[in-house]
Amino acid sequence: MKISRREFLKWCSASAVAVGLNKMDIIKLESMVMAAETTPPVIWLQGSGCSGCSISLMNTVRQTTIDDLLLNKISMKYHSNLMTASGDLAISSIDETISNFDGQFILVVEGGIPTKDNGIYCVIGEKNGQPWTLMDAVQEIGPKAKYVIAAGTCSSYGGAPAAGPNPTEVQTLSTILNGMTANKVINLPGCPVHPYNLTKTIVDLLLYGMPSLTYDGKPSSLYGTEIHERCPYEEYNEVSSLGEIGCYEELGCMGPRTDSNCPSRKWNNQVNWCIESRHQCIGCSDKNFLKSSIYGGGYSGGYSGGYHD
Ligand code: SF4
Ligand code: SF4
Repeated sequence: MKISRREFLKWCSASAVAVGLNKMDIIKLESMVMAAETTPPVIWLQGSGCSGCSISLMNTVRQTTIDDLLLNKISMKYHSNLMTASGDLAISSIDETISNFDGQFILVVEGGIPTKDNGIYCVIGEKNGQPWTLMDAVQEIGPKAKYVIAAGTCSSYGGAPAAGPNPTEVQTLSTILNGMTANKVINLPGCPVHPYNLTKTIVDLLLYGMPSLTYDGKPSSLYGTEIHERCPYEEYNEVSSLGEIGCYEELGCMGPRTDSNCPSRKWNNQVNWCIESRHQCIGCSDKNFLKSSIYGGGYSGGYSGGYHD
């Protein structure tokens, strides 16, 4: 999965433009890569979720794609969907990465993390003949990573897997790592995470280190403004049916309580986004997504802890 430095530099220039970096950023990124001995290693783990975040990223075709970034342009060491290795060989690549790049690699976790019965409801492989749960893997790998990214709402805030009755007691990434990884967990919510937000965050990490975060752990530059504030229908009359052109507040639009860059970034290669395609925002990037008090479904007591509660 490795590529040459020349190829990586070429990609850096292209992707830097795609994610809106200026010339100085591009020069800095290229210098950083020139000075580095290897491309940045990434371990991507998957937990309770639908793999939608991976699929969303791989479906992006027009701008620089995250799978291109993670599979070809940086050194993707482990991703159970994308790698060809399996079994012991796959798991050994995690061990090798930790050993060879201690404190230098990026850990990405997609999906929530079951904790009931010592996490046995999500096993990613075997270690010493025993099931290796995602919970144990995150606790072992997280503290050794340089940065830890929660990709998507499930990993960031619980999302659907942590919704009531939450039989496997799914927890968030930051809750699992609470106290173990000071100041290096970044939440990138969205159901799924937007490929731009992930790409931009990784490039920013490479260039500048940890970004400024909101109170609930999201990069401020990407998520720091309410959708409502940037919605093109803020001045429109409220409408009472989906499909009509206007404001959907009467229909329970979550734009006034959801911070995200959807109005400017849009989806499907910038073709459109929820509200402009005539549907209210359901708040999929919000930390309360699918919580009982708002959605009528609800999280159980299994969702607790962490700074975002
Ligand atoms: S549609 Fe939603 S986000 Fe847009 S103005 Fe109305 S309430 Fe705000
Ligand atoms: S507009 Fe709302 S529901 Fe649509 S993707 Fe953005 S946060 Fe999610």
